Amino acid sequence: MAKRRSTTASTPTITAEKDLPTRFEDLGLSERTLAAVRDMGYAAPTPVQAASIPAVLAGTDVMAAAQTGTGKTAAFLLPSLDRLGHARHGQGPLMLVVTPTRELAAQIEEVAATICAHTGHTATVLVGGVSYEPQRAALHKGCDLVVATPGRLIDLINSGDCNLSQVETLVLDEADRMLDMGFLPDMRRIVAKTPANRQTLLFSATLSDDVLDNTKSLVNNPVRVEIAHKGTAAETIDQFVLPISHEAKNDALIEVLRREGAERVIVFVRGKHRADAVCRRLRKAGIECAPIHGNRSQNQRANALRRFADGEVGVLVATDVLARGIDIPNVAYVVNLDVPSDAEDYIHRIGRTGRAGEFGWALTFATPEEEFDLLDIEHLMGKNIPVYPRAQGIVLGDNLLVLDPNRTPADMLPGKKERKKIVDERHEERMARTAEIVANRSQRRAKRGRPAKSAIPAEKPKSSRRNKKANPARRSQPKQQAVGRSDRQRQRRRHPGDHGGVASRVR
Ligand code: AMP
Repeated sequence: MAKRRSTTASTPTITAEKDLPTRFEDLGLSERTLAAVRDMGYAAPTPVQAASIPAVLAGTDVMAAAQTGTGKTAAFLLPSLDRLGHARHGQGPLMLVVTPTRELAAQIEEVAATICAHTGHTATVLVGGVSYEPQRAALHKGCDLVVATPGRLIDLINSGDCNLSQVETLVLDEADRMLDMGFLPDMRRIVAKTPANRQTLLFSATLSDDVLDNTKSLVNNPVRVEIAHKGTAAETIDQFVLPISHEAKNDALIEVLRREGAERVIVFVRGKHRADAVCRRLRKAGIECAPIHGNRSQNQRANALRRFADGEVGVLVATDVLARGIDIPNVAYVVNLDVPSDAEDYIHRIGRTGRAGEFGWALTFATPEEEFDLLDIEHLMGKNIPVYPRAQGIVLGDNLLVLDPNRTPADMLPGKKERKKIVDERHEERMARTAEIVANRSQRRAKRGRPAKSAIPAEKPKSSRRNKKANPARRSQPKQQAVGRSDRQRQRRRHPGDHGGVASRVR
């Protein structure tokens, strides 16, 4: 296969929103595609659509940074399907969209189905968690468009069922997320199976140096579209933080749901087991909820989303598998029961509410151990998150996070090593307190002549086992040290479970 020229340096970048066309009719789409637009009920193009559609129609490669919920799915599907031919029987696909999660694939397919109804194209979805046979049958029958997650696509390529040699348009959706989830080798293998002269459209929440470095060889002289800026949270979302102790989180969540309403709420947590445990507690408290994370089958995940959309369950408890891209309208508010360790994930989580100009709000519970993750988020957004004003009467626990009211998002934070040490110490202090509580409880039971309950098993420190002993003398807030910001920026996830356990991190 011929080597592609790869460059991103000297290519045009579209950033200004004010000079972009404001009517779909002015973007160069054909009449049948405009009919699909009317069918979807879109009155005017979003900025990412106005900037990308003419470039895609001109056959140019595109690298677009677009905040979640900006209309990027239609930005790549409308113009690509507009100019796409039709595969012969048993041939194709002519267009391939690769996306990181099954939910995103289902959502893309939904938009594609509306457009295909007008353009006459056929679409097939290839995702894991469901049977291979219908997917094989659809491929052998022939199709114009394939929407796939990387793992299942590679399987079907390896088994000889999927042939990408006719792909004219390749879309890499949520490219930054695919890198985070360790899909870079899969992405490269998939791209290598497509013709060198294809058109490549790369959509990513951000075009960070990391994304650019890893993907620049996949695109050819692309137009860059940069509408959203890193760390931009929708203006229609009010954000609050609830400083709290670890032990008080679960009860406080129930209290918040009782006060603020337990309908159309998404609760984000760290890790799959935690999501299941939180669901059990909520159900005990009489709150209808459903978990959604990487350990759930495709059917269970789709079912949870459907029941939530239909209002059968009021609360979804999710890991970051749901944070990006999934379009659930009218989410009343988002609760981050755990602060995400990647600040970008925060932007995506809270982006589930306040979509398409609606009003929404988000509440983030933060413990002393999560302080730096919170400060990272504030730094990324360039603003502080105000304290939740309706916390009166909610039990916050004894050892809650103390936030400096005079902090500024530009404050220097401790570097990676220092911060790990501080977080470990805080974690061990908490474990020591828990052990003390359990011991006191056992003593009281013994006094009353009851057998002692088994002690809570010792939890390992989150990120290090070096500091074996709790050090109560270090309970005061640590002094923040001036260290290089690059250290902080290199601080990546410590919780691979955040991604539903899919592959490993690549950075
Ligand atoms: P996406 O960023 O593709 O996930 O889209 C987010 C939401 O915006 C979806 O509910 C779309 O239906 C909606 N949307 C996309 N384009 C437009 C548009 N031009 N006008 C109004 N809503 C749109």
